[in-house]
Amino acid sequence: MIYLDHNASTPVRPEVAEAMAAGLNDLYANPSSMHREGQRARAAIERAREQVAALVHAHADEVVFTSGGTEGDHLAILGAAWARAQQGRRVALSAIEHHAVHGAGAVLADQGWTVDHLACAPDGRVDPATAAIAPGTALVSLMLANNETGVLQPVAEWSRRAHAAGALLHCDAVQAAGKVPVDFEALEADYLVVSAHKLSGPKGAGALVVRRGAPLAPLFRGSGHERGRRGGTENLPGIVGLGVAAECAARDLAAESARLVALKRRLESGLREIAPDAVIHGEAAPRLPNTVNVSFPGARSDHLLMALDARGVAVSAGAACASGAVEPSPVLNAMGVPRALAVCAVRLSLGRTSTAAEVEAALAALREAVPAAVAAGARAPAAGTRA
Ligand code: PLP
Repeated sequence: MIYLDHNASTPVRPEVAEAMAAGLNDLYANPSSMHREGQRARAAIERAREQVAALVHAHADEVVFTSGGTEGDHLAILGAAWARAQQGRRVALSAIEHHAVHGAGAVLADQGWTVDHLACAPDGRVDPATAAIAPGTALVSLMLANNETGVLQPVAEWSRRAHAAGALLHCDAVQAAGKVPVDFEALEADYLVVSAHKLSGPKGAGALVVRRGAPLAPLFRGSGHERGRRGGTENLPGIVGLGVAAECAARDLAAESARLVALKRRLESGLREIAPDAVIHGEAAPRLPNTVNVSFPGARSDHLLMALDARGVAVSAGAACASGAVEPSPVLNAMGVPRALAVCAVRLSLGRTSTAAEVEAALAALREAVPAAVAAGARAPAAGTRA
């Protein structure tokens, strides 16, 4: 299988698997226990905290371990909003955020909060010139890199605007961490989220970075774990795996990102050779080195995904399919991509295991799969898009 779905999840690095196995087998004591075995487990967690902090240029005591990106986003958004509730019950989420962020927004809306959505420009960026923060907003949420298009967002600029408006800033850096440099200090964010399985670590582990002094009401209250910010006995193997993944990602970042940019360039020029009318979404904006979101007009997302799967290439659909109908992605919608084009979007995301030979093989598969998907769409008009 040629795996071009690294934004969905990544293969675990061998060093990570080894460290996790050692953690499972050897570091079985409770990290909160006072005895020596407990302290060995605690030391492994504190080492991972330093490794994560180093990846995002934060202080180790700012790192709170979570079960991944979804929990990190919920903890930041709900934790900040609840801590700030007396000052106004309003938050602003960018229109292109992940479900993990919109889900936390839905919890607040259920509790009577006003949830604003910051508009996205056609190039895929949430442009401070065209979106505004309403008075009384407690928190602004903007991701560092979009998971569908890879478009990088002007987070530092939004942090300054949020702070000037008296609001806190949460940044979902799940797709950015390990792919581009992430500097918590320079971003001036109050909260930043990473997830291990997007950077060659395990699923079900992640971290929320909380600026010293930023308010945070915990979601889980336990026996003072994570300095009272996240109750529950720590997922030691997952945390150790996240730490090693973070250290490896930081070490390899510059070389790996240059390698991926070269592969992405070749992939994009190949896509254009296959279909000169192909549209690469977010192409005009700065993007992650690994992500290509492309529409081949007439080749519906689900048909193309299946045609590629049959040829041994794994990609993601850039549109959601339910009961034979295709719904364009809210991200492409927010960018103003016409519906007919948005339902044809697929996301190809490269990663650590991707090679030049794989890119060529994927292009060969696409050369056959695009016309096959167009033909499948013509044969099955009943299962076509809703008007
Ligand atoms: N945020 C973004 C931008 C993501 O891409 C994802 C996962 O796809 C998440 C949050 C959720 O992370 P997790 O799968 O670790 O819960």
